[in-house]
Amino acid sequence: MKKVFLLFSLVFIYGTSFGQGKYEGKFEQMGTLLPSPNVYRTASGAPGPEYWQQRADYDIDVKLDDNKQTITGSETITYYNNSPNPLGYIWVQLDQNMRATDSHTPKVATNGMRDTLYSKWVPGIEVNDYEGGYNIKSVTDENGNDLKYFINKTMMRVELPSVMNNGDTFKFNIEWSYNINDRMSDGGRSGLEYFPEDDNFLYTIAQFYPRMAVYSDFDGWQNKQFLGRGEFALPFGNYEVSITVPSDHIIASTGTLQNPKETLTEEQRERFEKAKTSFDKPVFIVTEKEAIKNEKKKASDTKTWVFKAENVRDFAFASSRKFIWDAQAVKLPNGNTPLAMSFYSKEGNPLWEEESTKAVVNTLKTYSKYTIDYPYPVAISVHAASIGMEYPMICFNFGRPDEKGNYSETTKYRMIGVIIHEVGHNFFPMIINSDERQWTWMDEGLNTFVQYRTEVEQYDNFPSRRGPAANIVRYMKGEKQYIRPIMTNSEQILQFGNNAYGKPATALNILRETVMGPELFDYAFKEYAKRWAFKHPTPADLFRTMEDASAIDLDWFWKGWFYSTDHVDITVENVRWFKYTEDKEKLENQVSVSASQEPGEASEGETALEEPMYFTIAETPDRYYGEFMNRVDEKEIVNKAKDKNFYEITFENEGGLVMPIIVEFTYADGTTETQKIPAEIWRRNENVAVKTFVTEKEVTRITVDPNLETADVNLENNVYPRKDVKSAFDKFKEGTN
Ligand SMILES: [Zn+2]
Repeated sequence: MKKVFLLFSLVFIYGTSFGQGKYEGKFEQMGTLLPSPNVYRTASGAPGPEYWQQRADYDIDVKLDDNKQTITGSETITYYNNSPNPLGYIWVQLDQNMRATDSHTPKVATNGMRDTLYSKWVPGIEVNDYEGGYNIKSVTDENGNDLKYFINKTMMRVELPSVMNNGDTFKFNIEWSYNINDRMSDGGRSGLEYFPEDDNFLYTIAQFYPRMAVYSDFDGWQNKQFLGRGEFALPFGNYEVSITVPSDHIIASTGTLQNPKETLTEEQRERFEKAKTSFDKPVFIVTEKEAIKNEKKKASDTKTWVFKAENVRDFAFASSRKFIWDAQAVKLPNGNTPLAMSFYSKEGNPLWEEESTKAVVNTLKTYSKYTIDYPYPVAISVHAASIGMEYPMICFNFGRPDEKGNYSETTKYRMIGVIIHEVGHNFFPMIINSDERQWTWMDEGLNTFVQYRTEVEQYDNFPSRRGPAANIVRYMKGEKQYIRPIMTNSEQILQFGNNAYGKPATALNILRETVMGPELFDYAFKEYAKRWAFKHPTPADLFRTMEDASAIDLDWFWKGWFYSTDHVDITVENVRWFKYTEDKEKLENQVSVSASQEPGEASEGETALEEPMYFTIAETPDRYYGEFMNRVDEKEIVNKAKDKNFYEITFENEGGLVMPIIVEFTYADGTTETQKIPAEIWRRNENVAVKTFVTEKEVTRITVDPNLETADVNLENNVYPRKDVKSAFDKFKEGTN
């Protein structure tokens, strides 16, 4: 051991004498970048001994009017103050007001003029007469007395008759209505789709009731206005929701149906029971044939469906007389057997009956492995053209064949991808309940990462878009003025998909495969999920837990990937091949060799790999030995070094993002060998790293990141000798293009 150490320490001493370039402290600890730990959140990333979170229970009655396309509702909210702080008022979210006439959303949209504008984007011109926003009819206390409230756009402050102290609960009522938006023309995460052929609506209903804002230890009230992009922050609670719809509608909803006898036929109830033990394939509760028959009914009377959901942060449902409905049970490691269900109109078939419920099953299995066993009784995928949107236990997904029922492979895989993604959101952020209004990446990025794992593990050759390192390269090497760090509030993000989905998912994939290794990563990631399931995590809780459970200092990784816009570009700048000699003439005849030279340029044609340089071994002077230390066995060292090849490689960090260096050696006999150097090689000099590799065989080629696992943006400078291929740019300059 000692001999090796001495040999390398010499190399190391030489290595550090290179020009330093700019030192940015990339390996310094995150320190004040993270919030101070306290009794609520510990420095290990776990909830602290006095962790608290608020709770809101809802008792909701809503009526869906299929003739006027409106929602009318009343609710009783029971709010629990578990915080140590007295509250004089509380904040309620009125998300529908983003569509109200006085909404700030269109006002803060920027738009310029040009000589030709697509009609859809002409600024300031409205042609439909849709009137959006909540009509709040009343806000009253338990006894029906009016409460004082003030509506500030999408937030409503309700004044409490008396201060709520720690442990107090407060019950109050709200009555409201709103017009359902046509999401096919006006967009939106929810709304209606109209089918002119059979004159029917398919409603996907969400953000449909006034919802409590989150009050937390780290942010106080999260009452940042809803402008349309930064999604939601919601407390957990129990729900009992009665939904009144036309009697021939079928409802898909968060929660468990409480009154199947009043809402389902006997046959449907029997099929539903059968589905609970069908683990290999879905059981139809409503078949396509039955759904087509239903489409023609147009009932004028109504039915009320009652659902209960426990410990959820939100509630959504879908309703239509067009629904086909299938369900299959899923066996989870802890013995839970939730139902995977799909609701879709005939327009989704044959794709939906083939793939939807299967995708839900695959999602629950893989996500349960990486996080926690799916804790809810159902997971539902609803067919809704052109959107993908998630709520607890239910999500709305695109993927529709053409009128003849034909679909491409692209349509199929995009549909499976969106179902995995939206069902996956049950875990992030519905259970591991991060603040979406603030951090889009905390749910989208983590979710997209596990989505990628699901695609890899459950499907053969799935054309995954986000996850593989090579797929993020284009974005990473783009113009920095159009790139924001991942740690940017949702509203300020540029290139939304790449920033909040693609890059964090890829970073986690690289963290798993290249930096930590699957064993350490999976354990730590699961630990984060276990610690923060049914709680409110912040970025620091994730960053800290991943280190806490793995013993890997990842501050450099978070700083590089999450706080900066640097990219990875590690080059093999120069290589020098040495062999040992005792021949003085050989040594004298070569240019004097010192390790402190500035690195040369990598050669294109003639290469240092063709002719070795020589070095000899001198006796270690006494001053390098401390008192009583053993001397190294000089003879044995010479013996062992004699036939070896020493390759001194100069790496440069051109992209700024420090990463492990993966070096592949191709030997003269055609075989290859790969060595992985941890990122800490850059800790003292963040720009240049010199390292000598010792091999038995002679090397003909050196390649950095041979399997494209680090998202290195320039592969040409990863190879030594440089491939004799001129870049298109050079050819262009020479006029030979
Ligand atoms: Zn998403």
